[in-house]
Order: sequence, then C-alpha cells, then structure tokens
Amino acid sequence: MLQVHHLSKSYNEAHVLKDIRFSVAQGEFFGILGPNGSGKSTLLKLLSGVEKASGGDIQINGEPIERYSRKQLSRFLAVLQQESLPPVNFTVKEIVEMGRYPYQNWLGEEKDDQSGIVDSILEKLRLVDLQDRSLQHLSGGERQRVALGKVMAQKPSLLLLDEPTTYLDIGYQIQMMDLIKTWQREEKLTVVAVLHDLNLASIYCDRMLMISQGEAISIGTPEEIMRSELIERVYGTTPIIVEHPVHKLPQIMLQGGIIE
Ligand code: ADP
Repeated sequence: MLQVHHLSKSYNEAHVLKDIRFSVAQGEFFGILGPNGSGKSTLLKLLSGVEKASGGDIQINGEPIERYSRKQLSRFLAVLQQESLPPVNFTVKEIVEMGRYPYQNWLGEEKDDQSGIVDSILEKLRLVDLQDRSLQHLSGGERQRVALGKVMAQKPSLLLLDEPTTYLDIGYQIQMMDLIKTWQREEKLTVVAVLHDLNLASIYCDRMLMISQGEAISIGTPEEIMRSELIERVYGTTPIIVEHPVHKLPQIMLQGGIIE
C-alpha cells in the first residue's frame, strides 16, 4: 500500500529526515514514534503530499505520490490532526458533510445521493443528538469525534493521524482510538499514526517506527520497540517495561530520578 524509499528532507542546512525506509501493508496500523523534534510531523507532511521530499520517494499503491493530484489524493487519503477543525461556526452535520467534498462537482453535487453515508457516520460516532449543534458549543472530545466523522465521510483507504489524542483526557483518548480501530478493522483501512503516548501505541499499533533526530532507529512490533534500552537511547530516560495484564502487550512505567 505504502512504500517509503531512502526518504530525506532538509530545510536549508538542517537535515530533518535522513534515509527513512519502511513499508506499510494494506489494513495495517502503523505507528510513528519519537521524541519532540525528531521529525515525525515532517514525515507525515511528506506522506500526505503537503510537503515535497528533498530525496528518495514515497509510493502509494505502486505510484509515486507526486503523480496524484490533490483531489485524487483526497479520494483515498485522509489526515486527522489534533484540533483540526476550523474555528468557524458550522454545525456538526455540516462539518461531516464537508468530508464528501472530494466526490463533489463544483456545484457541491454528487452523482448519487450520499446522505446515507453521513447519517450512518453520525450514528456510529454517537453524534446524532449533536448534529445540529454548532461546533463552538462542543467539548474538545466531541469536536475531535466530529473531525473523525469528517475524515470517515471522505471514505479513505489510507488514514494519516497526527497525534489525534493529544488534548484529550484518558476517557476520550481510549474512545477515539477504539473508534479508529473499529473503523480500521471493518473497512481494512490502512492507518499511519504519529502517536505521542508509547503505551497507547503499544496497544493499538501492529508495528511501529521509532525515529530520533531524523533517523530511523528501529522498526518492529510493540514487543520489539518497547524495550527499556531502546527507549533510554532515544528519550534519555530509563523506564520499567511491564506486560499489560489484559492485552499482554508491553507497557512502560516511568521512573522518577530523585524519588527514594
Ligand atoms: P516532531 O513532529 O517529531 O516534533 P517535526 O517534524 O515537527 O518534529 O520537526 C523536526 C525538526 O524539523 C525540528 O528541529 C524542527 O524545528 C524542524 N522543522 C520542521 N519544520 C520546519 C520548517 N518548515 N522549516 C525549518 N525547520 C523545520
């Protein structure tokens, strides 16, 4: 589905990404992890076609990304960011309907009536009761659910997530990740997610890429990445790794340096 070969990106003299290589299979949930400033967001901007690589290439479904027009890309690729909705006063339903834009002509019409798509998304995301409410009157967690609804209406086959749970409390974090995971499984969606939280990443990702200072340090399953020495090397802190009692996946416990 997605192949990245020898990808690099420089801004003037700064080499932000160096020789990044990985591939993601269809239906896979792939995480991108790394400390602040390691190049995660830059990598996602290259994968979404917003920025151009300085070297190497990205292939989606066997075609270099630059062969696709913006509108072609938006028919199979969607991006969900933190706080990604416009600050203007649309209703929940209007925002979800905006996800249909790639399929509309210049009059905003679609070939067939697609109102069923929007209604079923509102139902799935438990937004039916909120559909006529203005975005301004929603909580952060509800707004992010609306943003998810908009990208679902886009019907992508590749979803890029840029720290989608950053401003959410733990209840909304899990709700958001569960909604994405359910969608991914039902539609065989491919997900590439920049995630801040290593423990969430371990639970939801099939494989992950750890980057540090623009270089790929390791690629593998949660068990292969969530190792104390690797995390120490990248983040400069030594966590204790434990097995999640239910999911049986590695989880980190942080250790304070000055506590007896
Ligand atoms: P992360 O998402 O891992 O926090 P970023 O991809 O945002 O990291 O940034 C990686 C590095 O690239 C940082 O040092 C940042 O300052 C630099 N950078 C990002 N965008 C630009 C830009 N447009 N111009 C110059 N430097 C940039």
